[in-house]
Amino acid sequence: MRYISTRGTAPALSFEDAMLTGLASDGGLYVPETIPTMSTDDIAALAGQSYEEIAFRVMKPFIGETFTDAEFKEIIAKSYTGFGHDARAPLVQLGPNHFLLELFHGPTLAFKDFAMQLIGQMFQAALSRSGNRVTIVGATSGDTGSAAIEAFKGLDNVDVFIMYPHGGVSDVQRRQMTTPSESNVHALAVEGDFDDCQAALKDMFADIDFRDTVKLAAVNSINWGRVLAQVVYYFSSAVSLGAPHRDVSFTVPTGNFGDIFAGYIAKKMGLPIKDLVIATNQNDILHRTMLTGAYTKEGVTPSMSPSMDIQVSSNFERALFDAYGRDGGAVSQLMDELKSGEFKISQGAMQILNETFLSGRASEDETSATIKDMQIRTTEVLCPHSAVGVKVAEDHLSEVPMITLATAHPAKFPAAVKAACGIHPDLPPHMAGLFDRDERFTVVPNDLEVLKTLVKERLS
Ligand SMILES: *Cc1c(COP(=O)(O)O)cnc(C)c1O
Repeated sequence: MRYISTRGTAPALSFEDAMLTGLASDGGLYVPETIPTMSTDDIAALAGQSYEEIAFRVMKPFIGETFTDAEFKEIIAKSYTGFGHDARAPLVQLGPNHFLLELFHGPTLAFKDFAMQLIGQMFQAALSRSGNRVTIVGATSGDTGSAAIEAFKGLDNVDVFIMYPHGGVSDVQRRQMTTPSESNVHALAVEGDFDDCQAALKDMFADIDFRDTVKLAAVNSINWGRVLAQVVYYFSSAVSLGAPHRDVSFTVPTGNFGDIFAGYIAKKMGLPIKDLVIATNQNDILHRTMLTGAYTKEGVTPSMSPSMDIQVSSNFERALFDAYGRDGGAVSQLMDELKSGEFKISQGAMQILNETFLSGRASEDETSATIKDMQIRTTEVLCPHSAVGVKVAEDHLSEVPMITLATAHPAKFPAAVKAACGIHPDLPPHMAGLFDRDERFTVVPNDLEVLKTLVKERLS
């Protein structure tokens, strides 16, 4: 199995190299050269299996020779032991034909744990074999950084530096990043906003000298390993509702398009998914694009679902690559046009996207109303991101069962939840000590040279 870039010119890589590299050298994203398929019998045989066994069978064709079966099984087992629910991704019913896939039972209470825990273990296995060491630097508005720290803390061949806006993340998110005591973890509170953190990260990757000296690696949402890990729960949930003998639909609260792109891969592999619905908050670039065919950047308006407050949805490039018949030159040109703020998608490509994805948006008022309404109707307390999904899903219900992805635990966003439904969501038992532990972080000015020097000093 080889991986090619969406921009057409970077060299094709193995799974291991695509995962360790993150971004392709031509600025594109890695995708599998061909998508392996599972037969109806293969899918039917997943029924009743553990999450770990389903993960092994679904991901195995993508990893090539990178790990032996025994190694890969061990990696998967280690990845999901820290989850607070035996099912890993349990499904609960919200109403007739509407189900909620709870993806928030991992160690940092957001779905990002599914992918981050797995690539943490995969990095560790690959690096300890080669004897190499890497430095992971990430920028976060909250969930990605905490999931990365939790996944990489204490691993032998990795240092992890996470930059977050000082004062700009919730107390739970901050404490998840600042309370781990392992010496390979470095939480950096940058005196700037999330865009400043992201810009610093981009500059670090552009500085070839720095990149090579510290052996920089990226685990942001464009990393193929993360997309792959997320394909698994589409299978586990669909099979528990009767697939492959019955179609299912999914609604996915979306920011960087990573989670929903995993659903698209599941569909290409043969899972009978009828509708794949993109759910956005008021920052609705993807919904507007699906309606008009014009991908137009606008400023971000902060919402109560901050992990979806994005201006550019990076994984959308993977969907465009397929919609343009895997023409890397065409994708490259669109990305060039985006530098001036907008590109227009061709009619042919739009037709393909419209056949694959539906979309909807939830305003702030609709999101709050959904949290309240669902609590009354079902007793389920939703986080604001999940509520965006539930609202949009309710606009798309049909005779086919709908599964909405619940991307975070409500206790991660207590203020918004309390304001919406009057209930203060408690942290689950395995996190109860979070507010008693000591914090450790370094406040850093928003200055690239200072940041780079600090990383180098900490490593030596
Ligand atoms: C990251 C995140 C999202 C958006 O996921 P994408 O893969 O970027 O589309 C939605 N909800 C929560 C809680 C998140 O942390």
